[in-house]
Amino acid sequence: MTTASSMESPLATALSQLRRAIDQLKLSENDWNTLSTPRRVLEVAVPLRRDDGRVEMYKGYRVQYSTTRGPSKGGVRFHQDIDLDETVALAMLMTWKCALANLPYGGAKGGVAVNPKTLSLTENERLTRRYTSEILPIIGPERDIPAPDVGTDERNMAWMMDTYSVNAGFSVPGVVTGKPIVLGGSLGRTSATGDGVAISVREALKLRGINPDGATVAIQGFGKVGYWAAVALEEMGLKVVAVSDVNGGVTGFKSVSEVHAFVEKNGTVVGMPGTDRITNTELLHLPVDVLVPAALADSITEVSATGIKAKVVVEGANAPTTPGGDAIMNDKGILVVPDILANSGGVIVSYFEWVQDKQNYFWSAEEVKENLNSILMRAINDVAEN
Ligand code: NAD
Repeated sequence: MTTASSMESPLATALSQLRRAIDQLKLSENDWNTLSTPRRVLEVAVPLRRDDGRVEMYKGYRVQYSTTRGPSKGGVRFHQDIDLDETVALAMLMTWKCALANLPYGGAKGGVAVNPKTLSLTENERLTRRYTSEILPIIGPERDIPAPDVGTDERNMAWMMDTYSVNAGFSVPGVVTGKPIVLGGSLGRTSATGDGVAISVREALKLRGINPDGATVAIQGFGKVGYWAAVALEEMGLKVVAVSDVNGGVTGFKSVSEVHAFVEKNGTVVGMPGTDRITNTELLHLPVDVLVPAALADSITEVSATGIKAKVVVEGANAPTTPGGDAIMNDKGILVVPDILANSGGVIVSYFEWVQDKQNYFWSAEEVKENLNSILMRAINDVAEN
């Protein structure tokens, strides 16, 4: 059994949220004991031969938090700061996210404590393949299905699928999602999390009585989630007025595509001609209708939440808010759409990908979008009504 501590680590945050949910839903201590404990935790040592011949060891993890509703499902993160506690916390969030969207999955998470920017392409491939071999006994289309997360992308998924398939002796596309389309990936998967964030923004504004047309948005993080959310929000008629990345933020640009073109060339939003530079904290405090944290965990804290002026906060990132930050936004009357709802578009379309792989029958982009909208709207309405 685990106990919730008042310390604000991602695991402590997740446990304290679980405690509040258990109390509110009047569930028993038996439920707390079961739901606060991960079912399977694997830590592996991943050897990597660098291009210059040196061999280095990296820590890797795979946590299957729950397998009650079906195979476990969750991303693989390559980031220097990940540890077992954070991986357990993220696997717990995946469990709630899949249940909320009513997907036939439990929750998982994994990763390697490495900065992928320090790896050459061939080193990244060797590390991904070796990590896959180390966790191979516990993954599979009916057991646990990895997907991309921070620091990994569709190429890593292709290497994972190939490593698994070589061991099986035949092609097993359903072992991972977020694959390239030619290997059995789904149309619409790349933009799915951002699309879901945008749908959540639209519905939250409706609940607040704000017309989405022309409503202003600030987005922290301009990666896979932040960028695609910005694109979808602009298409819905909202005005994205500020974006940021790890180096800082900018305002004063004309369109999201203009910022994207600059980032493709320069690797950051900072320094774009014709824009004004702001810090990540200043972005959080802009007088906008909607704030979308779409970077890493713990950016909205007791301290940073006090200056938030947005009427609606839609959590694109996983666990971007600490319990202290949550309490302050609640006191200020800000409508918060939590991560397990707002960013569930990615796992919903991952589910579609897995279904298509099982059926060997692939859907059109329109079908994917329609089904994403209907599953997410059902979850949003369930939450709004309760
Ligand atoms: P990514 O690596 O593609 O992008 C992350 C972005 O955040 C980059 O722009 C980076 O520069 C920025 N960033 C990093 N540290 C920052 C900091 N300290 N301050 C400001 N910006 C910072 O990752 P992603 O896939 O977009 O994931 C972002 C978040 O969304 C993560 O919490 C991830 O777990 C969550 N998420 C991702 C998906 C998905 O489908 N990719 C699905 C659900 C949840």
